[in-house]
Parts: sequence; C-alpha cells; structure tokens
Amino acid sequence: MILMNDFKREPEDLRQAMASAVNEVLGSGWFILGAQLERFETAWAQRCQVAHGVGLGNGMDAIELALRGLGIGPGDEVVTTSMTAFATVLAVIRAGATPVLADIDADTALLSMASVGRCINDRTKAVILVHLYGQAHAVDEWARFCKHHGVALVEDCAQSHDARWSGQSCGTFGVAGAFSFYPTKNLGALGDAGMLVTHDDGLATAVRQLRNYGQRERYHHAVLGMNSRLDEMQAAILLERMKWLIPFTERRRAIAARYLDGIRHPDFELLARPAQADAHVYHLFVVRSTRRDAAVAHLQACGVQSHIHYPVPVHKQAPCLQIGRDPLGLPVTERHADMCLSLPCHPQMTDEEVTQVISAVNSF
Ligand SMILES: *Cc1c(COP(=O)(O)O)cnc(C)c1O
Repeated sequence: MILMNDFKREPEDLRQAMASAVNEVLGSGWFILGAQLERFETAWAQRCQVAHGVGLGNGMDAIELALRGLGIGPGDEVVTTSMTAFATVLAVIRAGATPVLADIDADTALLSMASVGRCINDRTKAVILVHLYGQAHAVDEWARFCKHHGVALVEDCAQSHDARWSGQSCGTFGVAGAFSFYPTKNLGALGDAGMLVTHDDGLATAVRQLRNYGQRERYHHAVLGMNSRLDEMQAAILLERMKWLIPFTERRRAIAARYLDGIRHPDFELLARPAQADAHVYHLFVVRSTRRDAAVAHLQACGVQSHIHYPVPVHKQAPCLQIGRDPLGLPVTERHADMCLSLPCHPQMTDEEVTQVISAVNSF
C-alpha cells in the first residue's frame, strides 16, 4: 500500500542523527526551555528571515497566543476560512474571540478576498490567512488588504514550511506567523511542537510570557498565561529534521509536477498550478473528484491510500453551526469539501510509486 506518510522509510542517516540528538539532551540533564530550544528558535527565525521565533507546545497554541499577545479576545471578531484544520478556528475561540468564516476561491481552495471583505466590520480585529495544503498565494496583497482595513494579518503556516511568495517566507507578511511541527507536517517533530514567528518585539515578549504561565521572571506572574512550551528533546530533533527540509520539499514538488502532468481523467479536477515556483511546498496534493467515494475505493483497490482534507468544513461541525459567516454563504467551501481528495505526496515515495498513483487515478 502506498501510504499518505511513511516515516518508517525515512533515511537511516536521519534516524541516527535524531537518536544522537536525543542522547545529547539526555546527557545535558535539561529538558524544558534550554539551549536546544534557543538554537531551534534562532534557526527557524533565520530561515524565515524574521526577528523572533517563540517555541510553543503546538500550532494551535501558536494561533491562540498570537491573538492573545495582540490583545485580541472577547468582543473581537477574527475572520478566517472554514476549509482548514479545526485547530485554526478552535484557537480563535480559545482566545475568547469570535470567529467569522469566509468562503474560498475554487481554483486554490484558499481564502477569498471578496468574501473576507464581506465579513469585515467594526469589531473585526484580525484575519487568519491559512496557507492551505502548503500554498502561499498573493500574500503581499493580503498584507495590503489587512492594512487598508486596519486589521492584523496572522498567517497559519502549519502546512507551509519554507513556502515563499516573491522570495519572502510565509509567516512574515503580517504581524505573526503560526507554525505547527506536528509529526505529519512538512517539518515535523516526534511529538507535538509549534512556533510563533514575528517581527514585533512586543508580541514576542508577550508570547514568551504567556507560554510560561505568564511569568515575567521566575515566580513573578505579570499576566494569566498558559503552559505551552516546545521541549528540548523535540527542539533537538527538529534541528536535525530541518537539515532535510530542503531536499524533502524538492521531492514533494517533483512528485506534484508529475501528478500535474500525468493525471488526466474527466472525473478528476486539478487545483491551480502555483503562480510562483517556491510558493507551494505540497504538504498535500489535493484533487477534486465528482465521484469521490467510488474514487477512494478504486484507489484503495489499486493499493493507493488517500485522505480527505477536509470532509466537513468547520461551519458544519456540531459545535460551530451558529458561527457567523459570509452573508452570501460558503458555497465554494461546501462544494470543495464534497469533492476534495488528497493523494500520497511524501518525500519517501519512489518514482515507481508515483507512476502507480497516476495509473490508479487514470484507470478510474
Ligand atoms: C495542523 C494544523 C494546525 C494545528 O497544529 P497542531 O500543532 O496540531 O496544534 C493548525 N492549522 C492548520 C492549517 C493545520 O494543518
């Protein structure tokens, strides 16, 4: 079976390097908020060309703490997409703010600017732009749009490590970028981890306090924070895995290029090709199918696993039925949710396996 992710097939060199890194942490006798985290924060901030990286417990907390650090909470509205991981919207709710859901553009499944425009009002304090599936698209336009409307731009970069728009890293266009290093992300730990990146000194300081019970200095609590720290073991592992991110992303792009050229079937729609070469890091390769259930069964019979990102948009989840949304509704989101299908696209896939996936699709 060709799997969506296949970590057991990762290079032996990488496995050895991670084992040594873990050993080093064991030997250091220091496990939380130490030298490994500082190294990883510096390395990732540098990679993004941004002033600060603040390591956190996970990607959802990075979004929540970005909002809280900006003073966004009860009474404030935050506009985002319904076609995202549930965590994006849950983070807004956890921050005490009110999410408002906008529709997407059909060709990319990314947030529609026209729809967001219809959702903005006097209470709107931020837009969370999700670089879904690994696509950074027109992020500079979003920065101008948010500035024009006087709202903060927060980027959800959980799926878009190393994605760049006009040479600039995602996560650096607005006031904050939220990264997840959940194991299946393009840069993943061996557990939970996340990071907020920002140019803003004040926000970085605020989030550093918030992640550690609101402590200003040891046992002096300036605010009511939470416990959300990226531990030394995961930071050491991420430093090793980061060395592989460029070749792994190149491999994802090569696989995607073959899919874009090779998939030809009337029941399958491809999403738009990225407008710039380094804009898409193919965290997921997503197609749409008019007969998805049958397509999933056919792929399975051909030995190809597939997943759906996401079958139920946030506004159709039980606790979210009352959430505010675009007055014109979310028809493009709903159509996409009914048709989208993610094909295997991970760095360990061989050329033969890519061929096998293409044949499986085209023989449907
Ligand atoms: C994975 C993901 C998150 C949440 O990250 P966690 O580290 O799992 O909390 C948020 N947004 C998107 C788009 C994601 O894919």
